Amino acid sequence: MELTLTDFVFYTLLGSMGLVLCFTLVSRTLHVRAEKRSLANRVICRLCLHAFEETSYVSIVKCPVCGAANEKGRCRRVG
Ligand SMILES: [Zn+2]
Repeated sequence: MELTLTDFVFYTLLGSMGLVLCFTLVSRTLHVRAEKRSLANRVICRLCLHAFEETSYVSIVKCPVCGAANEKGRCRRVG
């Protein structure tokens, strides 16, 4: 079997494209995962609408700006 220059270039391109695709998928997966995690910890103050992250396991967190008590995980619900 003889490997011509065209074949070599073709396989090199194919390989690099596959690598790029793999890296894109992995980085996108990691990014989505990190975003989901940060969204789960995000609290938006119901008084001043200040958005902050709370990583502790308590359900009631205090806003660092105005000090109002906010319920975690309910920031998107209206009312
Ligand atoms: Zn606040």
